[in-house]
Amino acid sequence: MVAIKTKVYHVAYAPAISKAYLFHWGCNLKCQGCLCNKEINCMALEENLDVVLRDPKLPKPKSPEQFLLLDELATILKKVPIKEVLFEGQEASIDPSYSDITKALKDEFGCYITLNTNGVKLPDLTNTDEIVMSLKAVTPDVYRAYTEHSNRNVLGNFCKVYQQGKKLRAESVFIPGMIDLDETEKIAAFVAMIDPNIPYRIDAYFESGAENPWRRATPDEMIEAVTVAKKHLVNVTCTQQTESKLEKKDLMYEVIRLY
Ligand code: SF4
Repeated sequence: MVAIKTKVYHVAYAPAISKAYLFHWGCNLKCQGCLCNKEINCMALEENLDVVLRDPKLPKPKSPEQFLLLDELATILKKVPIKEVLFEGQEASIDPSYSDITKALKDEFGCYITLNTNGVKLPDLTNTDEIVMSLKAVTPDVYRAYTEHSNRNVLGNFCKVYQQGKKLRAESVFIPGMIDLDETEKIAAFVAMIDPNIPYRIDAYFESGAENPWRRATPDEMIEAVTVAKKHLVNVTCTQQTESKLEKKDLMYEVIRLY
C-alpha cells in the first residue's frame, strides 16, 4: 500500500475532552498579523502560555521539517481516546491528504471533525462535520491589504458551505486601525445576509509580526465590536486574554503534545 504523506507537523491533545488538534503547514494567504510569525505550535501548551506577551520582534519560528504519514498519525491518535478532531493552522484545506485523513479518522474513531479554514479553497468536506471560516475582511481593498489576495472565493465559499447544510461558524480578528469597528460590522452584515443565526466569534488581535504598526485591542474595544456585530447577528462572542500572564491553572483544560 502507498504511504500517504500529510502536511501535519504537530499534534496537540486535550485529555479532559478527548480532543486532538492537528496542525498543518502551508497557507494560501499572507496575513500580516499571522500568529505563525510568533509561534507555530499549539498556544495552549504549557510552554506557549506566554505567546500573547512574547516580543513580536523576536526571530520567526523555524518552519517544520518533518511531516507525518497518515499511518503514523493514526498510530499516534490510537494511543488515546478520540471524540473530536480539529484541523487547524496553518491551512488544512490545502493539504492534498485532507480527504484521506478525514475519512480515516471517521472510519477509525467515528469522531466529530471540525475544519478551521480561511475559506480560499474548499476541500472535500464529505467527512467534515463543522467548518469555522475566518473571514478576515469583506471589503475587497481591506482584505487585499491584509492578506495580499482577493476575497472573492472566500465569500462565495462561505455561501457554498452554508448551502451544503454543514454546520458553519464565522470568525474574524479585531485589529485596531486595520480590521476595525466599521469592517467588523460589515463582516457581521455579510454573515447575516446568509443567516443571522450563524455564530460569529471576534478574536482580539495581539502583536504578531515584527513590522506591524498595530497595537493590541482593548477590552472596551472588544465590547464595542461585539455590540456592532450584534446589530446584525444573534450569536456573537469574542475572545481576549485579559490576564497579564497566563498560567496552567487559567486554562479550561490541559493540552499536551502528542507529536
Ligand atoms: S490564513 Fe491563517 S495561517 Fe494563513 S496567513 Fe492567514 S493567519 Fe496565517
